[in-house]
Amino acid sequence: MSQTKLLVLLVIAILVGGFFFFGLNDYLNLEYFKSQQFKIDEAYRANPWQTGLIFFVIYVAVTALSLPGAAIMTLAGGAIFGLFVGLVIISFASSIGATLAFLASRFLLRDSIQKKFGQQLGAINRGVEKDGAFYLFTLRLVPAFPFFLINLLMGLTPIRSWTFYWVSQIGMLAGTLVYVNAGTQLAKIDSLAGILSPGLIASFVILGLFPLLAKRLVSAIRNRQIYKKFDKPKSFDRNLIVIGAGAAGLVTAYIAAAVKAKVTLVEKHKMGGDCLNTGCVPSKALIRSAKFLNHVNRAQEFGIKSAKAEFDFADVMERVQDVIRKVEPHDSVERYTELGVECIQGQAKITSPYTVEIDGRTLTTQSIVIATGARPFVPPIKGIDKIDYYTSDSIWSLRSLPKRLLVLGGGPIGSELVQAFQRLGSSVTQVEMLPRILIREDPEISKIVMDRFRTEGVDVRVNHKAKKIVSEHGRTVLVCENLEDDSGGDVRIEFDILLVAVGRVANTAGFGLEELGIPITKNRTVETDSYLQTIYPNIFACGDVAGPFQFTHTAAHQAWYAAVNALFGNWKKFAADYSVIPWATFTDPEVARVGLNELEALAQGIPYEVTRYDIDDLDRAIADQEAHGLIKVLTVPGKDKILGVTIVGEHAGDLIAEYVAAMRHGFGLNKILGTIHIYPTLAEANKYVAGNWKKAHTPKKLLMWVERYQNWRLG
Ligand SMILES: Cc1cc2nc3c(=O)[nH]c(=O)nc-3n(C[C@H](O)[C@H](O)[C@H](O)COP(=O)(O)OP(=O)(O)OC[C@H]3O[C@@H](n4cnc5c(N)ncnc54)[C@H](O)[C@@H]3O)c2cc1C
Repeated sequence: MSQTKLLVLLVIAILVGGFFFFGLNDYLNLEYFKSQQFKIDEAYRANPWQTGLIFFVIYVAVTALSLPGAAIMTLAGGAIFGLFVGLVIISFASSIGATLAFLASRFLLRDSIQKKFGQQLGAINRGVEKDGAFYLFTLRLVPAFPFFLINLLMGLTPIRSWTFYWVSQIGMLAGTLVYVNAGTQLAKIDSLAGILSPGLIASFVILGLFPLLAKRLVSAIRNRQIYKKFDKPKSFDRNLIVIGAGAAGLVTAYIAAAVKAKVTLVEKHKMGGDCLNTGCVPSKALIRSAKFLNHVNRAQEFGIKSAKAEFDFADVMERVQDVIRKVEPHDSVERYTELGVECIQGQAKITSPYTVEIDGRTLTTQSIVIATGARPFVPPIKGIDKIDYYTSDSIWSLRSLPKRLLVLGGGPIGSELVQAFQRLGSSVTQVEMLPRILIREDPEISKIVMDRFRTEGVDVRVNHKAKKIVSEHGRTVLVCENLEDDSGGDVRIEFDILLVAVGRVANTAGFGLEELGIPITKNRTVETDSYLQTIYPNIFACGDVAGPFQFTHTAAHQAWYAAVNALFGNWKKFAADYSVIPWATFTDPEVARVGLNELEALAQGIPYEVTRYDIDDLDRAIADQEAHGLIKVLTVPGKDKILGVTIVGEHAGDLIAEYVAAMRHGFGLNKILGTIHIYPTLAEANKYVAGNWKKAHTPKKLLMWVERYQNWRLG
């Protein structure tokens, strides 16, 4: 705690301590005021301003220090100053005092509370940032909520001080009026209990609900405005139309059909979207073939004198297509039609919140789910339009192996393809503008992958910014700026094929969003609220087009919320839950993560402990000739509660599942340690990291006594 904080705390402690030590609380009761009312009235008549000011200051002090007696003083204020003057004095004094208490709580406690419970308070913070004034107004209107508690608790939230002040001033007015008015009849009041009759409290509760009702009314009026220019059909052709048959659209349609809704799924290209056709499935198939070649190259490590693989790159790429064909039935029109989904091949356009046009034919619908996905982003590098570059959309059409492949981008997609092509025999250069590849991961994790890439022969160029592509004597060259080199000299990299993998941008244009005025975020995704609703409450978005994640499993996760909210939102809506999101990058070694890593914990000021286990010590990993990698678990200091896990190593993407379950269902490392893991498996690593945590938290004192007990038993 800083010196200033200590000083403020000391002053508050002295003032509060002094209040009770000198028995000042004895003066803040009804009997005392009644006994002194005559004298106080005299003083007020003789010196109205002075008396008013003294009363004001005492009132501010009592409320600012959260001392008991504010209610009594409010009554006394009514008795001394009458209804109007009393109301003015007390209204300002109580609001100023409340704000001082709020500021003290904020200054002394907010940082440490947010630091300690920042993650748990995340939802509350977001709620207060968005609707804090409404919540506060409701609380203030109902005097049954303790006044001092609201001041102290609000100080811990992100609400602005000025908002707190004016909302308090207005919100407390009704309650203050009741008390001050009662005070004008002080002689007739025997206790505080009578002032707030159950009937009056009920009226306040109704008053308290008013802002929430007002909010609903405002949103109903806003909806009317939004929908005003569209004719609502008397009846609808469909309950739901889903645009896009990728992971998000397929799952949305599946759920809708499962609950017997009349649902139409529109796809303009291929069922299965990116994941099946150009994303997860082909990339993992290619990675598998490349891994096989890597194992052949490592034959001697496995005790095989020599092994040779003869292959044709075109066959490998055909195998990739074969894998797609094998998975295809899962996402096919036939399967979904059988499930009860009407599948339409065509380009969809939203023409109103109630109508979707598909290649000239218009269907009416109660709700719409936008699941149009994303596409590779191609940066405007000078000269790029002069060459036939590839992206993750088009790379699958290659049938001859690029001799020199240049991959622009150090993210998961770029990195996976870099290693696969290097293993297949290309000479790969990876260019990344940032100081590391896989920038979202901790630096040591990026380094492990980058070191492996370099060992396998990839020319990894981090801190290299692509400037232009030029043609020099029939050769194609990428000119980069080396951001580490202060002399500013250009770096020239020759290549045969360029693969651009610098990120993906949501598909938001050309199908009606502009015309309807549906806002796009600064990340270029469709703007939705936590229910995945756009500004039109019956139009939803999920998957890559909505963000913030770009994974198949998050698209499917969001799809459940979009489908359920679209079909049953009139009764109950569900806010999408992103509390435990896992992902993996399928490089070799794989990198998998759930929850926080150190970078994020530090950035968010969340205290943590790190427990590690190096997989080079694991029996199964040794037997498999894959004894490398690590598990890094972040826990709440002193507790086994998991904040996040990163795994680098063989099958990291599978191993992480145990931690995903732990975080989702609230069990910690002790429970993982107490679970039988089959020997010898890679999964045992999870138990060993839990064991390392346990060792670091052994109750040393208890063990000392146990040792003494055992020695004593020896006689
Ligand atoms: C190379 C690569 C590897 C990847 N690997 C993984 C991985 O290992 N794990 C993982 O979780 N994720 C991975 N991803 C990401 C994953 O593919 C996406 O997150 C996922 O496909 C998103 O699904 P979606 O339904 O939101 O969008 P998409 O799959 O893109 O589907 C959107 C569909 O909408 C259609 N569409 C668009 N506009 C219209 C319109 N107006 N009318 C009709 N149809 C329309 C499109 O044709 C498309 O089929 C990878 C991506 C790539 C590119």
